[in-house]
Amino acid sequence: MDAKQIMKIFEDTAYVRMGGSQEELRTAKYLMTKLEDMGLKAAIEEFDVDMAEIEDAQLLVDGICVTCKGYLNAGTAEVEAPLYYLRSSDKVSLSQCKGKIVMVDGYLGYWRYQDMLENGAVGFITYDGNANYADRDIDQRELRKATHKGNKIPGVNINAKDAISIIRKGAKTAKILLKQREFEGKSHNVVLDLPGEVDEYIALTAHYDSTSLSQGAYDNMSGSVGILAIAEHFAKNPHRYGLRFIWCGSEERGLLGSKAYCAKEENLKNCVLNINLDMIGCIMGKFIYCATAEEKLCHYLSYLGSELGFPIEGKQDVYSSDSTPFADKGIPAVSFARIAPQNTATIHNSYDTLAVMKGEQMVEDIEFITAFTSRMANAVLCPVDKSIPDNMKDKLDIYLCRKRAPK
Ligand SMILES: [Zn+2]
Repeated sequence: MDAKQIMKIFEDTAYVRMGGSQEELRTAKYLMTKLEDMGLKAAIEEFDVDMAEIEDAQLLVDGICVTCKGYLNAGTAEVEAPLYYLRSSDKVSLSQCKGKIVMVDGYLGYWRYQDMLENGAVGFITYDGNANYADRDIDQRELRKATHKGNKIPGVNINAKDAISIIRKGAKTAKILLKQREFEGKSHNVVLDLPGEVDEYIALTAHYDSTSLSQGAYDNMSGSVGILAIAEHFAKNPHRYGLRFIWCGSEERGLLGSKAYCAKEENLKNCVLNINLDMIGCIMGKFIYCATAEEKLCHYLSYLGSELGFPIEGKQDVYSSDSTPFADKGIPAVSFARIAPQNTATIHNSYDTLAVMKGEQMVEDIEFITAFTSRMANAVLCPVDKSIPDNMKDKLDIYLCRKRAPK
């Protein structure tokens, strides 16, 4: 695939495709046709996801309406209470949440939500966007199943500019009205098998869904194109190990596609390695790897970069992407990304478009990942040990919220 063909795919997929939506399915079908053009037949595997349709979402602060978006799957409710800005998760701050509508910074993570519930919060407000940007965008957020575990309080998301103005004037009370229809829906993985000489296989993954405001060119049509190009290469080139390509749905909703794939034991029985692509080929920035595997793999990748004259840095760690469910099931996993400086390309907002991508950089990144895949796939014995070291198991426990990170 050359730079021009790659940029054409970014153009074809320049639309929002949230996990479980019709647009996401449209992209799944688009990927299938791209594979068909290469003479390859993939399959679509569906899995259940929680869906919701907001019917009404209102936030009133001291009686004045603030533009907001209601949290999907956060129930239907109306609450009015004193407003409290939880600036930090220390005990003193948390003890002030009782009976209040609580505003927090950043994402609503699992532990923050549990802390708020335990301390008696009755509703929540998050904010996103950037106070210094001209737009007043508000991301469509959801209360994830893994976060609420059946315990829901209503919440809304607002723009950072309004959050600042609420706190600046010392607002006293808030009222949240949230009405929605919640239902079970489907999201989809696209799976392509290229059988090898042995039964064991390497899984190559990349998610193709986006968040609510994002066309997701960088995050992560780039990785999706990456594994398309790698599939095209290996359809015509030898590989001793089988290769399975999985374009994952609903990654942005909590790695749901890769979790659904990894939940099936028979899928992983013969899997020896996961190679995951999440954000490559942007104009600016450096290429990195993140290996959730034995540390030897880090040395290998660093040597390979030197051998091929391809600058790469990275470390042994857990990556917030589809590699993690594999590692959690004992499959060594490595993610690749080109990380753009924050002031050149950002993700999960309306600025993630093909304007931040470079076809020639995509080609270079793909070449390196193809070279690595080829060495692993043609090894007499895949050299990466099929085990997860204890330090990584510990990090997986923290990432997957089974254990709190030490303060
Ligand atoms: Zn991503």
